[in-house]
Amino acid sequence: MKLRIAIQKSGRLYEDSVQLLKECGIDLRNVKDRLKTEADNFPLEIFFLRDDDIPQYVEDGVADIGIVGENVLYEKNKKAAIVEKLGFGKCRLSVAIPRIQQYEGVQSLQGKRIATSYPFLVNEFLAKNNVQAEIHEISGSVEIAPGIGLADVVADLVSSGSTLLMNGLKEVEVLLQSQAVLIRNNNLNAEQQKLIEKLVFRIRAVKKAKH
Ligand code: ATP
Ligand code: ZN
Repeated sequence: MKLRIAIQKSGRLYEDSVQLLKECGIDLRNVKDRLKTEADNFPLEIFFLRDDDIPQYVEDGVADIGIVGENVLYEKNKKAAIVEKLGFGKCRLSVAIPRIQQYEGVQSLQGKRIATSYPFLVNEFLAKNNVQAEIHEISGSVEIAPGIGLADVVADLVSSGSTLLMNGLKEVEVLLQSQAVLIRNNNLNAEQQKLIEKLVFRIRAVKKAKH
């Protein structure tokens, strides 16, 4: 039997995900096609997917495990458990407003139009703070929304903050700190669990060697 892992097909998590598997001694040269690959020296099959789809695939058991950002995992609100934090893909989900605007706490967001790709998490944040605002879901280039009059503020992923700066925005609230995590399906058999343990053991060794 083989363990099936879902990783991002291309994008910010791709390189580090592949690198991590390689550092775990898993040989990925046997590329079958662009959708999946098999390792030569570990019973592992690798599926390449859009990161947004990974929590669903792992919940459904199409893949047994996956590597995805906590931001995506929580936004999708799927039943997949975190096995291990991986220490890369670090970012935060933050609210940012035009730099020239005053900010006096969350109540400043009352009645505003918020552009985001994370409607579930933003909605949760607003509800928790008793703020009513309009969420505009957009899938990319969220940070340009205020500049073109599509929204008043944004809730977007930030790492260095340079993208915000370039778009005349300032970060005012952090909703979530995020990094890449290894997730697993909730109904795995003993053999699959053994393989995950083996993989996690190696991941920890790799992480330790880096510190
Ligand atoms: P896909 O085509 O797979 O849907 P994507 O465009 O949604 O890709 P990427 O931009 O590649 O996603 O980001 C993947 C993940 O990288 C994010 O969900 C997040 O966890 C992490 N990440 C780390 N830093 C940043 C950042 N500054 N901006 C966006 N994502 C970041
Ligand atoms: Zn995505």
